[in-house]
Amino acid sequence: MNDFWIRNATLVSPTGRRNADIRVIDESIAEVADRGNAPAGVDDHVDATGLWLLPGGVDVHTHFGMPLRRGLASRGWLESSTAALLGGTTTVVDFANPDRDEPIPDAVARWQAAASQECLCDYALHATVSAVDDERLDELAELIEGGIPTFKGFLAYKGRLMLEPEELRLLMTRVHQLKGRLLLHAEDGELNARCEEELRQAGRTEPRHHPLAHPAESEIAATATALDLARATGCPLTIVHLSTAGSLALIDAARTDGVDVSAEVCIQHLFRTDAWYERGIDEALNAVMSPPLRSDADAEALRTAVADGRLDWLATDHCEFPLEIKRSAAVDGFPAVPNGAAGVGERLIVAFTLGVESGLISPERWVDLCCEAPAAAMGLGHCKGRIAPGMDADLVLFDPRASDTHLPVHGTHSLWTGSEWQGAVRHVWVRGHQVVESGQLDPEAPTGRFIRRFF
Ligand SMILES: [Zn+2]
Repeated sequence: MNDFWIRNATLVSPTGRRNADIRVIDESIAEVADRGNAPAGVDDHVDATGLWLLPGGVDVHTHFGMPLRRGLASRGWLESSTAALLGGTTTVVDFANPDRDEPIPDAVARWQAAASQECLCDYALHATVSAVDDERLDELAELIEGGIPTFKGFLAYKGRLMLEPEELRLLMTRVHQLKGRLLLHAEDGELNARCEEELRQAGRTEPRHHPLAHPAESEIAATATALDLARATGCPLTIVHLSTAGSLALIDAARTDGVDVSAEVCIQHLFRTDAWYERGIDEALNAVMSPPLRSDADAEALRTAVADGRLDWLATDHCEFPLEIKRSAAVDGFPAVPNGAAGVGERLIVAFTLGVESGLISPERWVDLCCEAPAAAMGLGHCKGRIAPGMDADLVLFDPRASDTHLPVHGTHSLWTGSEWQGAVRHVWVRGHQVVESGQLDPEAPTGRFIRRFF
């Protein structure tokens, strides 16, 4: 049986740092003791002197191997989960997206089948709801029963995923009855479609024009609509990948009114801005994502809110397409370019370098934002995101002084290449199995497990 100690670690949690010895038995954390309390004579131990011990990172917004169109899919489960583990993230929550007329449980089964073969980290699923009728709504109870209590709706992507406000109201009413939570992609699909059409007419379809089809007002308008519906229906709401100061202000106000709303922010919207679109065609292509990178003022407002606690956790919306695929799609203009960027492997290091080392947030807040808060908010708090007896032994040993940092990026280009990074993920365990040793993935690393979530 698996039974070992990690000794002499600096355990970092949202409430503080302490010197500790941790015992792992089988797949769980068995004991958290003060340093020096590991019994003498135990030879099965890891010496963590000088390293920080963190709970495994939890990224609750990813798209691994997401089928898009004509056989095109985002980078798959094996490569994406490898990046996650090398970057210290041990659990992801991905989105199962039904095809038109496909029952949602069938889409979930497809996602689970793909993940079970290739995903090396643990995984859970949200369910996307892109059609609202009795048949779809009647499937939600079964999904919750199966450990999927969060449902994503879109006010964006007209003609594909977009719900009309009245459909969103019906969905939120049912989700509320079932004690689930509604996740919203907040962009106004009508407004975006009009902007895109104007850009086409004007011949402005280079990758750098992409953000002009996703104006800040679009997110603000959709956020306002969703908050009105949350007030009217009582449905708990999360705005995913929040990107503008304007929608943040609406959420602040709604919270003051007692609306149950949380806000997720992605690292790219904190630490990159729309100046990126002017750096060159490849950089612009890397930043073709929705919502797009925003202004300096927006990013600044989001960073302030991360520091003072008004934004709840850090995610990535990881959805990686190789640059060559984006380049060939761009021949038909930016609307043809698949949306998305890499981030799951970079999140901890980016947030450490640009958040902790820059003085924006404390190490404790960093751990909260990347591990404990997302796990708790998305129904994983019973097993993930914390180092405590009984929790899954998902553990990261992190060297905060390392400057030999490699980001686990594919290819040569991402939003995060070309900068200097600090800190390094040295060792990673998933449920007691060591999967990363000295920064290298164990080639025998087992596949991860589907984790049921509940509120
Ligand atoms: Zn997404």
